[in-house]
This record gives sequence, structure tokens and C-alpha cells, in this order.
Amino acid sequence: MKTKKWKKLLFYYKPYKKELFLDILFSIIHSVSVTSIPLLIKYATTNILNFEKDKAFRSLSLITVGIVGLFIVIAFCQRYIKYQGNMLAVKIESDIKTDIFKHFQKQDFSFFDERRTGGLVSNITNDAYNLTTLIKQVPETILDFMIRLIGTGIILFMVSPTFGIITFGILIFLFSIAIYFIPKIQRNIEKSRGVYSELTSNLEERLSGIKTVKSFANEDKEISKYNNDINTYLKTKKISLKLSGTAEAIVDPILIGLIPIITIIAMFFVLNEKFTVSDLIVFMLYADILIGPLFNIFALMEGFNEGAVGFKRIFDVLLISPEITDSHDTVDLKKVNGNIKFKNVSFHYRSGRKVFKNLSLEINAGEYVALVGPSGIGKSTLCNLIPRFYDVTEGEILIDNVPIKNVRLKNLRQNIGFVSQDIFLFSGSVMDNIHYGNLDASEEEIIEAAKRAHAHEFIFKLEKGYDTYIGERGTKLSGGQKQRIAIARAFLKNPPILIFDEATSSLDNESEKLIQKSMEKLAKNRTTIVIAHRLSTIKNTKRILILDESGITEEGTHEELLNKNGIYAQFYNLQFQKF
Ligand code: ATP
Repeated sequence: MKTKKWKKLLFYYKPYKKELFLDILFSIIHSVSVTSIPLLIKYATTNILNFEKDKAFRSLSLITVGIVGLFIVIAFCQRYIKYQGNMLAVKIESDIKTDIFKHFQKQDFSFFDERRTGGLVSNITNDAYNLTTLIKQVPETILDFMIRLIGTGIILFMVSPTFGIITFGILIFLFSIAIYFIPKIQRNIEKSRGVYSELTSNLEERLSGIKTVKSFANEDKEISKYNNDINTYLKTKKISLKLSGTAEAIVDPILIGLIPIITIIAMFFVLNEKFTVSDLIVFMLYADILIGPLFNIFALMEGFNEGAVGFKRIFDVLLISPEITDSHDTVDLKKVNGNIKFKNVSFHYRSGRKVFKNLSLEINAGEYVALVGPSGIGKSTLCNLIPRFYDVTEGEILIDNVPIKNVRLKNLRQNIGFVSQDIFLFSGSVMDNIHYGNLDASEEEIIEAAKRAHAHEFIFKLEKGYDTYIGERGTKLSGGQKQRIAIARAFLKNPPILIFDEATSSLDNESEKLIQKSMEKLAKNRTTIVIAHRLSTIKNTKRILILDESGITEEGTHEELLNKNGIYAQFYNLQFQKF
């Protein structure tokens, strides 16, 4: 699993091989140039002072030119690393974000049933950002440090192996501290990321449910819940800050003291005539060269941990394959007649009891059927199985005698219009929202669809007509208006199979009658399934199906079912108080 994740991560570098190569190359040139400066100084302090005056001036001038040249190279490399190198990171971050979003689009309903939106949003925002820090800054910093370390090591060991061993001993000690703390901090960061994404999810949920909060006057309760979430977050943050604070408390004084310590040790070496004042200057310069990246490495420790956690969280999600996908030999349904067959269908949700067992049903092409049954019996579930929002657990569903599992998903869903009880409108204009039903439709077709859904009348009266902004989730519209827009959207899609799941439930009697008429008009020569609790809306339906625990137990016209005096009659009497 881990190798798979790394392979997938490396895949993101592939389109940017050239930029990556240049970034690494300039990082190497940068570090080598920085490391070379003390060598020139060493040469100057060791040799030039012994030269005769003219030669000394000439050599010193050459060295000055060399150092200035190196500064220019360093500046050039730095600009590339900070600009193009960081751009490379931002591009990879964007690619990862796009891929996560695409991945979410491919997932089936069960994936979203089990996850919270806030957590998914945090995958795209925080986790992707933190991961990019890991893949960009960490290798760069480590590479820079390694080059400086190797350069310094060679010089130190050449001049004095004992002194080299002492310096490297201090560095190994510093790294042991980092290695001790990294896994602890990482575990805690993983925990705090989980808490943070829970906090974001709760926040998102509470803000989108603000009207419910206010209607129950539960603002104080929500504030207190939010405070609890914040406190849990604070607790986990406290532990990770305590850990990184302790690590830094040990490492920082050593880093700050590194130059004085090396200077004092080196001075002992000078006093014992083990090496010269020129060596001392070089050592101090090298200690200075090492100190910067050392600070960077320890400062990156937290970024590294955050990135590693982001890496895990992102690829844990990216490696989940959707269960409902196209098989290899899918077909497209051409000219759909709309015959729907359920053959011995059983179904249960991933986390739930069986909703259907061995259900068989045939809906003829062009038929208009109503589905009635007690709440929670599975009417919506039955409809959700037709566009494969969920796959049957056993048995099969066929459209025009083709098993839907063999039909290309996109083609299948293009042939089914779904107006569900949870209407979702996007923030944007009325026009945008109807247009969503068919992105190729013209403005005239959109208006025509709105007219057929009896939405045109109210849209026309809105402040900016079809260009009126309807707010997040259509919050500026009434329930009935939202429903009419959703119906217009389905009209625009114009599919051969229509499913209306409580589609008229928010309409007043007058509007309901109007919609009813247009639904019937639209349903002509199309297969239509209507789920309705209000039996008044389906009274004239030729075929009413009654769903209960044992499957479809009754069917017939309104009159036939009333005469049967079964479940339907019970429902009807309950609704119209005929006891
Ligand atoms: P209603 O008339 O109240 O809308 P329904 O007949 O349409 O109800 P469904 O929504 O299909 O009923 O639900 C059937 C059963 O499946 C219920 O027991 C419900 O709790 C369960 N259920 C629905 N959706 C899910 C889901 N996403 N995950 C798990 N169980 C679910």
C-alpha cells in the first residue's frame, strides 16, 4: 500500500521533469557555490599573505572577482529555486487538488454516505498544501544541507580528522534528537488533523443548518458545541506544540552555540599548534554555512510532519476505487424505449439491514407508474438503483432487456431524469440552474423548459428574471419555486425515463395541479415513476404499485386498490380521514 502511494506521488512529478531537473541542478549549483566561498578564503588566508606584494594584489583581486562571480551565481540560482521551483510546487499542488476533486466526482453514493464534506474539503485544501511543502521544501532543504555537509566534511577531515569527528559528533547528536521526536510529533499531528477536519465538518454543517439552529433558538448550544470542538483541537495542538517545543528547546541552544563551541574547540587546536589561524577562519565560515540549513531542517520538522500526514490522508482517499464503474465491454443504449425490469433484486446499504429481498418488477416502456408505501420502506432506494447510484446486492436490473451493469454509466444516467425530494440548487442564477439539466441547451430551450414546469411565471416576476441570483442552495427561493426549477431542469434534460421522488411535495394545491398536468404531458411516451405520499397526486394513475416489507404486494388503479381494501386503502383512508 505504501509503495503504491509513493508511486502515485512520483507520478505527479512526471509532467515537470525538466523543471524538476533544473530545480535540483540549481539547488546543487547554489549549495556548491555557497560551500566554495570559504575555500577561496582559506586559499587567500593561507597563501596570499606569503606572496610578494604585486602577486598578492593580483591574486586577491582574482579571488574577489571569483567571490563576486559566485554571489551572482548564487543569486541566479536562488531566483530560479524561489520562483520557478516554487511554481513547480504550486503546479503539483494544483494537479493533486484537481485529481482529488476528479476522484471525488468518480466516487459513488456510498463513498459520500460514509464521509463528511468538511473532511473532504480539508483533503483538497490543507492536506494538499501540506503535502506540497513536503515534496518541494523537504528534498530541497535536505539536498542543500547534504551538499554543504559533504563539502564541509571533506575540508574538516582534510585539515583535522579529530576536529571533524567532534563537529560531526555534535551533528549526529542533533539528528538523534530529531529522529526521536519526529514519529511522536507525526502521530500527534495525524490526530490533530483528524480533529481539525471534524471541526471543519461540524462548522460547515452548523453554518448550512443555521436556519434550523435559529428556529430552535439553539445558538447557545451550538456555540458551546463549537467551543468543545475548539477545546479538543487545542488539546491536540497543545501536545504537538509541547513536543516540538521540547525538541526545539534542546536543538536551538546547540545550534546557536555551535559557532562559539567550534571556535573555542578550534582555538584549543590552534594553541596546541594542530592547525593555523587560517584554518580557524575557515572552520568558522563553514560552521556558519552549516548553521543556516540546520536551522531550516529543524524548522521544517513540523512542515515535514504535517506533509507526511497530508500525504497519508490524501492517498488513503485517492487509493479508494469507486465500486460502481464501467465494465470493459459497456454498451450505449441507443433510442431507449424505457422498459425497466427488476429481476430478483436484493439490496442492502453497506451499513444496514436488507431493504429488498428478491424483488421482481416490470415497468413497461412509456408506462406511468406511481410507487406508494410506508415511510422508510425503500421507495427512494428502489429508484436510486435504476441510475446505479447504488448497485444491487443480488439479482439484476435491465433497461430494454440490457442489464444496466453493461451500460456505460454516463449514457445510463443521461437517459434518466431524476427529481428527488432533496432538491439541490447551486448558487448562481435561475438560468444557470435550469441550464444544468442540459449544458448544450439554448436560452430559448431553457425558457421553454421553465414554461413547461410552470416556473416561467414566477421567474419572470423576479428582480432580474432568469438572471436573478438565487443564493446558496437556492436559499432566496421558496420550496415550491425550488421544486419547479428542479422540474424545469429535468424537462430540459428530456430523458426517456423519468423519476419523480416526491417532486411535488412542496407545492400548493394550485401549483401542484399545474405541475401534475405538465408532468403528465412530459411523461407521454416516456417511462415515468412517481413516488408520492400525497395520494391525491396519483389518483388518476393507471398503475399504482404498493411496496412493503415483502416487496410489491399490491398493484392496480386507485379504484381497484380501494376495492381490495389492503395497504393502499388504509393509506388512503388515513390521508382522507375515512374511518
Ligand atoms: P420515505 O417515504 O420516508 O422517503 P422511502 O420509502 O423512500 O422513505 P428509503 O429512503 O428508500 O425509504 O430508505 C429505505 C431504508 O434504507 C430506510 O430504512 C433508511 O433508513 C435506509 N437508508 C436510506 N438511505 C440510506 C443510506 N444512504 N445508507 C444506509 N441506509 C439508508
